[in-house]
Amino acid sequence: MRKNIVAGNWKMNNDLKATKKLVKQVKKSIKKDDLKNTRVIVAPTFVNLTAAVKRAKKSKVEVAAQNMHQATNGAFTGEISADMLKSIGVKTVILGHSERRAYFGETDALLAEKVNAALANKMEVIFCFGEELADRKAGNEEAVVGGQIKNALFHLKGDDFKNIVLAYEPVWAIGTGETASPEQAQDMHAFIRKTLADKYGDDVANNVSILYGGSVKPANAKEIFGKPDVDGGLIGGAALNAEDFHAIITAF
Ligand code: PGA
Repeated sequence: MRKNIVAGNWKMNNDLKATKKLVKQVKKSIKKDDLKNTRVIVAPTFVNLTAAVKRAKKSKVEVAAQNMHQATNGAFTGEISADMLKSIGVKTVILGHSERRAYFGETDALLAEKVNAALANKMEVIFCFGEELADRKAGNEEAVVGGQIKNALFHLKGDDFKNIVLAYEPVWAIGTGETASPEQAQDMHAFIRKTLADKYGDDVANNVSILYGGSVKPANAKEIFGKPDVDGGLIGGAALNAEDFHAIITAF
């Protein structure tokens, strides 16, 4: 059965010192019976991944990257490959975050290539997608989300989804303090699971963890995670504070 997952996306925050401190705090905060079928992931910046991996070793905390390039190696100044991530002990990568799509021009087609590169390297992908406010206002949220999933993932085999985690993040709820209501999250997650079931069958659909992201806080996590198709969260701002993050990872 699918796992609950809480992943902290640290974005472009925390220098080396702050990274070491926060990983240590998160690690220490997790008590013996805290995690019910729950994986805890943190995603620091590239430069601090090695330090985070070192500090998270032999703990319940896993370390993920926030992005990667689709090529194996070569003349791609400033970029980082799956191979490089694996070589420092990082086995999970976040792909398709709305900030990557909006500020760095990442398209569904490019993301399909990145997903392929990650899976070819036996990495796990946390694949993000979500509609913008205008889409929701126009009642197009399912069409947009369905399109993002189909365009970037539907060339995959059902088996590939063993290494895919989905993260639904309505763009209008990211960093805005505005959260989708638990009902809005559940409705969309059910739609996402049905979209997967229609293409790959119930087995694949029921085993994929679908995370909600967008202003998840200690105060709203329990209600959102309580919905049947919500399997955890991708947390931005609240993941930068160990106490808040602990409240969220224990909110199941
Ligand atoms: P937020 O960010 O929790 O600060 O809204 C979520 C995300 O961007 O993954």
